[in-house]
Amino acid sequence: MTLAFLPFTKPSIDEATIAAVGDVMRSGWMTSGPRVKEFEETLSAYFDGRPVRTFNSGTATMEIGLRVAGIGPGDEVITTPNSWVATSNVIIAVGATPVFADIDAATRNIDLDLLEAAITPRTKALMPVFMAGMPVDMDRLYAIAKKHHLRVIEDAAQAIGSSWNGKRIGSFGDMVSFSFQVNKNITTSEGGCLVLNNAEEAKLAEKYRLQGVSRSGHDGIDVDVLGGKFNMTDIAAAIGLGQFKHLDEFNAKRQALAHHYFAQFGENVEADYGIELPLANFTDTNWHMFQIVLPASITRHDFMEQMMQKQIGIGFHYAPIHLFSLYRARGFKEGMFPVAERIGRQIVTLPLFASMTTTDVERVVDAVKSVLQKK
Ligand SMILES: *Cc1c(COP(=O)(O)O)cnc(C)c1O
Repeated sequence: MTLAFLPFTKPSIDEATIAAVGDVMRSGWMTSGPRVKEFEETLSAYFDGRPVRTFNSGTATMEIGLRVAGIGPGDEVITTPNSWVATSNVIIAVGATPVFADIDAATRNIDLDLLEAAITPRTKALMPVFMAGMPVDMDRLYAIAKKHHLRVIEDAAQAIGSSWNGKRIGSFGDMVSFSFQVNKNITTSEGGCLVLNNAEEAKLAEKYRLQGVSRSGHDGIDVDVLGGKFNMTDIAAAIGLGQFKHLDEFNAKRQALAHHYFAQFGENVEADYGIELPLANFTDTNWHMFQIVLPASITRHDFMEQMMQKQIGIGFHYAPIHLFSLYRARGFKEGMFPVAERIGRQIVTLPLFASMTTTDVERVVDAVKSVLQKK
């Protein structure tokens, strides 16, 4: 008997959401409108009443966060080399300079000691990434930002529903950027949202998302900043509203599956198979991903190939950003961030999504153990 293919992630979309998309399409108003407004209000309530604006991607969301913070040519922004390349691409896109600091092997997030050491007189902002939903030490992060008078644009793309000391990520801090790309814990197909500090910043974010336009009355219009075309559609917002209803349930499901992964791998799996498990954190992360670092005895390519033969999809997040050609051309090279390089070479993402079963987890763990073989 051949088992069905198990992808590493898959969205859960209910029939009510599909019907809501149909309603938007029949309504005659498909671009930004009432559903976007409702989604922004829903998100704002979720983030303790802070202003929230939506965009057509998490990438656009981060770029607009940087623009709202006034980051541009001559400014340095410190971030992690272990992220989706969007994180540092947006720094280049606004004309600023990305500066990397290596990661902590346990959290796989930027190492805050190294982040602080990378601060120069040109540093204007920090962009930490919450890998797999796991936040950095937020008290320490904001203490560093305050001490050096820096803005923070949190790349919380993966972290909706995560928390720090019982406080929800997004409900505190400076600017916080989330993604609703289809692989995230909730989706709008593509999209993102930015949590801001005040009405003035929110107004500026609205201008940047739509050609810099501000309107008044029936026909008053002006353009005083250069904006682009980054607005979310009502179709996407209808998906987001349908998904949002299930956010807590999806995250609880992910957490239970993560627990099952630990139970199935067992106490000795690190010693016996040479893998590194994620931090067993059951208070802060939303379990966006369950990632393990493979031993040096197998290449990631071979591991992925053998898992594929067992009908199991494996992801990898991420190849170190500084070793991409675009970044090498800016002077980055091998050896600069050894932890991110080692982990970037051997990290894999095991299947984890809300509609997965504990039997699926058992199947994945058995497959991993049979591919890696006990030492
Ligand atoms: C998904 C993701 C992004 C980009 O979001 P998009 O919505 O795909 O543009 C940025 N950073 C991280 C860490 C992500 O996981």
